[in-house]
Amino acid sequence: MGTLFVVATPIGNLEDMTLRAIRTLREVRLIAAEDTRTSGRLLKHFQIETPQTSYFEHNKLAKRDVVLAALAQGDVALISDAGTPTISDPGYELVQAAWEAGHRVVPIPGPSAVTAALSVAGLPTDRVVFLGFLPRQASPRRALLESYVEAPETLVFYEAPHRIRESVDLLIELFGADRAVVLARELTKLHETIWRGTLADAAGHLVVTEPRGEYTVLLAGTSAERSRWDDDAVQRALLSLEAEGVTGSRAVKQVARLAERPRSDIYDLWLRLQAGE
Ligand code: SAM
Repeated sequence: MGTLFVVATPIGNLEDMTLRAIRTLREVRLIAAEDTRTSGRLLKHFQIETPQTSYFEHNKLAKRDVVLAALAQGDVALISDAGTPTISDPGYELVQAAWEAGHRVVPIPGPSAVTAALSVAGLPTDRVVFLGFLPRQASPRRALLESYVEAPETLVFYEAPHRIRESVDLLIELFGADRAVVLARELTKLHETIWRGTLADAAGHLVVTEPRGEYTVLLAGTSAERSRWDDDAVQRALLSLEAEGVTGSRAVKQVARLAERPRSDIYDLWLRLQAGE
C-alpha cells in the first residue's frame, strides 16, 4: 500500500523549497500536480524527473481513481501550483479517498500564504478564522463577512487584485473605517509588500497604488481592537467616568471589564491619576 505525500512548494521564492520536499518528490512513483506545466518548471529547477499527472478542480473526480490506482502500486505526491495543497487548492477529496482506501497520508509541510502572512502581520494569532477566497457574488460575500463583525478572531482571506478595492470598501462599511488591516502582497517575491494600517488608510493606499499581484488580507478581530486600550486610553476613560460622578472603585471595575485588562493594572493607573501623574 502506497503513501500519499501532501507536499508544500514555494509561494514565490524557490529557496523556500524544503530538502524533504525535494527528496520526496524524487522518490515517489507519481506526482499529482494542479498544473503540470507550472510544476514542470519547479521540478526541472530541482532536477526531479518523476512523472506527473494533472489533478485540478475540474478533473478531480475522474483523476481520483487514477491516483488511487497508482497508490495501490506505490507512493504518490500531491502538489499544487504554489504553497500547501488543499489550502484553497484542490486535493481534500483525494486525501479523504486515500484514507478511506487504507493508505497512509503524510504531510510534507512548508510554505503557505496564510501562515506566512500571519507570521508578519503583527495581529493576534492565537485565534484565527481563515476564510479562503470570499464568495464572488455580492450578497453571500456580504453575509459571510457580516457574520464576523463581532468576532474576536483575526480574519484572513485570499483576494484577487481586481477585487481588493471593492472588498476594502465593504469591510469599511461592515467593520468601521478604524479597524486595523494588513495587506500582505507578493510574499517571498521581488515586489513583496506588507502594508499595515486602518481600513480607511488602506482604501487611500489602494487609490494611489494600483493593486497588482497576489494578496492575502488580514483583518484585526475585536480582541485586537480591545487590546488597543493602552494606558492612555484607560486613563482617559477613568477621567471621563470620574467627570460623570462615578466612584473610583466602580470606574476601575468598569474600565477593567471594557479593556479586558486585570483590575489591578487599572487600579494602578487610577492611583497614578490621583497622584497627578
Ligand atoms: N495553497 C496556497 C497556499 O498554501 O498559500 C494558496 C492557493 S490559492 C489558489 C492562491 C491565493 O493565495 C492567491 O490568490 C493569493 O490570494 C494567495 N497567495 C498565494 N501566494 C501568495 C503570495 N506570495 N503573497 C500573498 N498572497 C499569496
